[in-house]
Amino acid sequence: MIDLHTHTNISDGTDSPAALIQKALAEKISVLAITDHDSTAGINEAIVTLLGSTSNMKLVPGAEISCQTENGTSVHILGLLFDLANTELQTVMANTRENRIGRMEKILARLRGAGIQIEMSDVLEQLADGATLGRPHLADALVKKGYFNSRDEVFSQILHNRSKYYVSHYSPKPHEAIALIKQAGGVAVIAHPLADRRGQVIDELDFQQLVSAGLDGIEVFHRDNNQSEQEQLIDFARKNQLAVTGSSDYHGNGKLNKLAEFVTAPEEWEKLEARANARRVIQR
Ligand code: AMP
Ligand code: FE
Ligand code: FE
Ligand code: ZN
Repeated sequence: MIDLHTHTNISDGTDSPAALIQKALAEKISVLAITDHDSTAGINEAIVTLLGSTSNMKLVPGAEISCQTENGTSVHILGLLFDLANTELQTVMANTRENRIGRMEKILARLRGAGIQIEMSDVLEQLADGATLGRPHLADALVKKGYFNSRDEVFSQILHNRSKYYVSHYSPKPHEAIALIKQAGGVAVIAHPLADRRGQVIDELDFQQLVSAGLDGIEVFHRDNNQSEQEQLIDFARKNQLAVTGSSDYHGNGKLNKLAEFVTAPEEWEKLEARANARRVIQR
């Protein structure tokens, strides 16, 4: 089982990197990518845990890069197998992480304006050391304070992208993120491509721009893509020689997504791995 998209508590997942590796080993996953939002800070702990085990599971270093198009649509690009020491890519991720703090202050001010008593310190309590701050941590803080029952409830009521409380943060354009990932020797896969514009057909132009920037794959098998969307995406991938991936987008207890609930076919993974400029899979 090959799962190319998972989160730890270095972003908005709830398992530590060590705990995620243990869980993946218990579930006999063969290839696991760790793709925290805008950060690779969990990879070292994952490597130490894997090398300390007796398993031959393959670990794929990665990150999920938050991006925004010209017209403000949020797009997530998975970077896999890039050089973790690449300064340009790490700098863009650091800028995004930094900007997420001011952005959170703005969301909190809007919520306080609506009578919700919530402070930055409440949100930071929900965060592991050095983790990428995001709306899920705010959701956890609001649940803890008794305003809501679950992350999902907070998102569907007040934290979704069209909410009046929504504020965006600095992020690169999708084609810029792809170019950075490629320059760092990695491969770029667009995550859950239709999640933010459900029901709309693929905007061929936007996608074509991503292909020109060097896109390597499309995450087709994901709970946010319905059957007809998956068919369209497969068609587009075949026409553009892109790999087709499937993955869980596991977030521990933060989302319903189960580890390896969707997986990538071995030949599609091989296609992707062959497109990185060095062998960066970690295996004992
Ligand atoms: P942010 O990066 O701060 O804009 O927050 C976006 C993150 O919120 C995404 O990475 C999702 O994993 C998470 N998210 C979005 N909707 C939900 C939901 N309904 N339940 C739990 N997490 C969600
Ligand atoms: Fe997330
Ligand atoms: Fe995502
Ligand atoms: Zn994700």
